[in-house]
Amino acid sequence: MKSDLWVEEKHPNIGLRYKVKDVLFSGQSEFQAVDVVDTFELGRMLLNDGLVMVTEKDEFIYHDMITHIPMFAHPNPKKVLVIGGGDGGTAREVLRHQSVEKCVMVEIDEMVVNASREFIPITSCELDNPKLELIIGDGVKYAKETSEKFDVILVDSTDPIGPAQPLFGSEFYNDLATCLNDQGVIVSQGESPFYEQTMQGKLMSILHDIFPVVSIYNFSNLTYPGGLWSFTYASKGTHPFKGVELSKVQSSNLKFKYYNYELQRSAFMIPEFQKENIAKYFKGMDV
Ligand code: SAM
Repeated sequence: MKSDLWVEEKHPNIGLRYKVKDVLFSGQSEFQAVDVVDTFELGRMLLNDGLVMVTEKDEFIYHDMITHIPMFAHPNPKKVLVIGGGDGGTAREVLRHQSVEKCVMVEIDEMVVNASREFIPITSCELDNPKLELIIGDGVKYAKETSEKFDVILVDSTDPIGPAQPLFGSEFYNDLATCLNDQGVIVSQGESPFYEQTMQGKLMSILHDIFPVVSIYNFSNLTYPGGLWSFTYASKGTHPFKGVELSKVQSSNLKFKYYNYELQRSAFMIPEFQKENIAKYFKGMDV
């Protein structure tokens, strides 16, 4: 019966279940299954291949943290590249920064964009912003072929499955390094410090081979397995927080629901078990 409908995000050994009010969209694209459901606790929820991407209740956490940490770390971010991010939440936050002249977003799956436009306006509301260039295409190919240079690059990707797999590889990050300006910063979806320790360590080690400054920061989240999740940080020299003054954040006049000035530094203070895991892959993390 519809009144007892649940959606379950299944991993090899764990599952997370949510009670569903209504199924709003179900489709199968060339790349993945795309579903939007309305849940009792978390509002509308986007799932790709059965994995939760965003929910109305907690999307602000992920989107604040993927965006504002690098945007404030960079001295003057004018050009931003988002790889993935089809729900639009990351582009929405990028475009709130006055310094931004252009944001290019490269999402491989038009079905994710269209479903988000129709059913999740909370994240997709800035997809028609004139400063946004939306490209439906493979971010891996784009990074290899573009001659454009960016100040901030945000890899807002799914887990390393299917078309997202190369987004966790060294060839992709070498390509991104060539489209990054000298003070540029790259932040990427860094997986779970509990459940994806090998992946997290390997990604950090790939970044460490290419970039002089590499670190990782955490955020709490309602819907990702384990509740604690990470973003990796890499740059050609820009430190994640040493150059960021309180006055810079205050004078932006931006209001946040999760990010604040204190988190610019404290998010990088990661727990011992995570430090020990990363140290297995390389020594000398910058923060
Ligand atoms: N917050 C999310 C998470 O980690 O659960 C990520 C959300 S966003 C919807 C991720 C997007 O990355 C998906 O829409 C997916 O289609 C896109 N994606 C995966 N591989 C890609 C690639 N190679 N190029 C561009 N976009 C890609």
